[in-house]
Amino acid sequence: MDAFSPPREVADLATDPPTEAIHDNLRDYVFDESDSPRAANLRDLFDRAALREPNRVAVEDERNRAATYGELARFADRIATRLSRWGVDRGDRVGLFLPKCVEGVAAIHGILRAGAAYVPVDPTAPPARGAGILADAAVKAVVVAADRLAELRRAWPSPGPEPRFIVVGANENADDEPIPPDAAAWDDVIADLAPSPLPAPIAPADLAYILYTSGSTGVPKGVMLSHENALTFIDWCVRALDPPAGGRFSSHAPFHFDLSIFDLFVSCARGGTVLLIGETLSKDPTALARFIVDRSIDVWYSAPSILALIAERGDRESLAAAAPRLVLFAGEVFPIKPLRVLRSIWPESTLWNLYGPTETNVCTAFPIPRMIAPTRTDPYPIGRVCAPLSARVIDDEGRDVPPGVQGELVISGPGVMRGYFGRPDLDSRVFFRDQDGVRWYRTGDLVVDDGSTCFTFHGRRDRMIKKRGYRIELGEIESAIYRLDDVERVAVVARSGDSGTTITAFLTMKPDAKKSLIAVKRRCSELLPAYMIPDSIVFLGDLPKTSTDKVDYQRLGALASATI
Ligand code: AMP
Repeated sequence: MDAFSPPREVADLATDPPTEAIHDNLRDYVFDESDSPRAANLRDLFDRAALREPNRVAVEDERNRAATYGELARFADRIATRLSRWGVDRGDRVGLFLPKCVEGVAAIHGILRAGAAYVPVDPTAPPARGAGILADAAVKAVVVAADRLAELRRAWPSPGPEPRFIVVGANENADDEPIPPDAAAWDDVIADLAPSPLPAPIAPADLAYILYTSGSTGVPKGVMLSHENALTFIDWCVRALDPPAGGRFSSHAPFHFDLSIFDLFVSCARGGTVLLIGETLSKDPTALARFIVDRSIDVWYSAPSILALIAERGDRESLAAAAPRLVLFAGEVFPIKPLRVLRSIWPESTLWNLYGPTETNVCTAFPIPRMIAPTRTDPYPIGRVCAPLSARVIDDEGRDVPPGVQGELVISGPGVMRGYFGRPDLDSRVFFRDQDGVRWYRTGDLVVDDGSTCFTFHGRRDRMIKKRGYRIELGEIESAIYRLDDVERVAVVARSGDSGTTITAFLTMKPDAKKSLIAVKRRCSELLPAYMIPDSIVFLGDLPKTSTDKVDYQRLGALASATI
């Protein structure tokens, strides 16, 4: 096989042993071959895997397309070469706007190889949101699916320079404008024989990726994570969770969601295969249960809500026979009832409750016992802090509170983000320094230390919520709805129940304005990803107020419970 050809079918990989040439070639790209147990940066982590296991399958996608570590390294090198030729340099940002596929993984490694940071955006969200995020990050280039390029360019905020594009796949839509003349087709990029540039130096504090999360003022905020931040988490995972070497790792979370860091990079650290799960499959619990069985998954990681549905809807017998060795969940509380069902199906699997905002990556963890007591009704704790991070629980004045008393969890250490991209105003709100000069991040989460530095989760201080593991600032939904001319006031509340989280928007309209549910929903779908669109919309004459004349969210919450 030509080493520059596109990803192959999985079936071919078994019969077509990759050539030694790939391995030899790879040596040229590796610049840190020390035996140090710890990789110097994410590029080094990947290079080590590629050098150790060039012939092992590194990634498989849903359509059974795959690439070995050696091939992925070659693709990454070609992408880095093109990006460097376009002037992408250390510290620059490069966007990803494409569904999960082998090319996307290669692009991530290529961007890192160029010394740049990757900025993945949700390809299923409205293009205006994706374009706004990529423009905010001032990306120099975007790796984009061919059939999304035209809408991304149309939505690009003006003024502002357009980035260069690497275009993946073909566009079937004949009505779209042709790709710009300075864009490059993926196949041409990987077939290009131009010599590789010298690898850009990477320092631990260099930016590796920016993950945009919902912002309370309506503008998503970019969490900047460095190589050091990511490696701190990856090292902890390898030591504490002991994922199987050469194992098969699921990749359920989209790349713009921080759970994907585990899937993409811990699999590399263990020389394993990452199995990409696309958007449609990721929401279909019955098909996911079959996927776990058919693809012999060793390590599963997702939000609890989808695991609960897999346990409820999947075929119990086949799931039990194909139990993954390691099952991780994070992002929201796992209620005890569905967790008990999952445990009964997979009694021997190692299960962990992982906790952490994108800003700190996973920062506490709790191993779920093999037996869940039948009398237990409370969710399990979020657990102890992950070394080498530190955790404290503080009150409103920043003083430590004793065990047993609720306070805000604050985190410090090398896993904590650099800050929000271009938002020093937000940084100053979430970071503070103690007398010793240590920088602490305020998680906004309320916890109680049980006396053994094991924390239980008691909710949020603010209006951030979780829905199916997605982080949502209710303020972002309000600000999208406010952009409708006829809206006078809007307040959005969320309620959690057995069937998950429901979002309700309460609106008052300007005098004589039409109350159109369709107009509100349409506006939301133009500006927000599907999971943020309110489940119900209620028009009121006036919003209830507290005695201090603020919107009474508590009363609205009660009203929402009564209306759903
Ligand atoms: P994200 O930035 O999307 O990872 O969301 C982070 C937030 O999700 C945290 O600040 C918590 O509010 C919530 N969260 C994350 N993991 C857990 C968990 N294991 N249990 C309860 N809440 C969690």
